[in-house]
Amino acid sequence: MKETIIHKLCDINECSFFIKREDYIPFSFGGNKARKAQLFFEKIDNGSYDCVVTYGSSSSNHCRVVANMASSRGMKCFIISPEEASEKTYNSKMMEAFGAEITVCPVDNVHDTIENTLKTLRAKGKNPYFIAGGGHGNIGTQAYVNCYEEIRNYERANNIHFDYIFHASGTGTTQAGLVCGQLINRDERTIVGISIARKSHRGRNVVLNSIKEYLLENKINVSDEEIENATVFDDSYIFDGYGAHPKEVDDCILDALKKYGLPLDSTYTGKAFYGMLNYLNKKELQGKKILFIHTGGTPLFFDYLNELGE
Ligand SMILES: *Cc1c(COP(=O)(O)O)cnc(C)c1O
Repeated sequence: MKETIIHKLCDINECSFFIKREDYIPFSFGGNKARKAQLFFEKIDNGSYDCVVTYGSSSSNHCRVVANMASSRGMKCFIISPEEASEKTYNSKMMEAFGAEITVCPVDNVHDTIENTLKTLRAKGKNPYFIAGGGHGNIGTQAYVNCYEEIRNYERANNIHFDYIFHASGTGTTQAGLVCGQLINRDERTIVGISIARKSHRGRNVVLNSIKEYLLENKINVSDEEIENATVFDDSYIFDGYGAHPKEVDDCILDALKKYGLPLDSTYTGKAFYGMLNYLNKKELQGKKILFIHTGGTPLFFDYLNELGE
């Protein structure tokens, strides 16, 4: 994969803001789920799999990308989706257009429904590849270790050092990959995952576990203390949870669009961008070089625009 671009966005309070455009990954509107899915599909392409099974809500960027990767291979894709989050979105319309077979069930039955789907497919002689929601797991983490290397390449080539990296943290794999990259290289900087839904205790533990799992599998020795210190997970901007976006976040999204031509969505990148600006204000940081990772989710930006029109 070609590296995604990093470009300067603006200066605020003598801080220079740069942005890494994961939303420009050239497949299915890109985003972090496209970066992860590319690695999952390398496994699929090199194996004897004939269909793919995953899960996520109707607004899931992950499910859209996986369904699109499957359709581009003429492969069947099965999506298990919780009925609690099944409103029509641009992502769900695309999943349908890509021919994904979507099974909606109560969230408490998702686990069993996945097991049943896999069992039924195998009984029919199929060989399904299962991808956890959001592309969670060591392969997803690897995708963001790779992204971290791209950031280092940019720094070397442009003689710059980012003091902070900010990004939206959901299932935690993106953050785990970035932090693993930092720990492997022993780089001095702060990576801040702005939680978009999970409270710190649970959300941070998921990130910590993902980091430890990855380091273990790759036989990389890092002390628990170093891992703890490197994992900054800020749950101050989750508001009422997944998808909730008060007026401050909406204003921030419109502001970024008007000033920088930057599309942010109200579930992930808009909340993270808002969180970043507030985090920096709270800490009264000045003169820092800051990198924001635009993790994609462009179809959600248009869902947000539709909401505005109502
Ligand atoms: C899924 C997602 C995230 C969160 O990534 P995780 O690896 O699940 O933490 C952030 N931004 C966008 C646009 C996403 O779709």
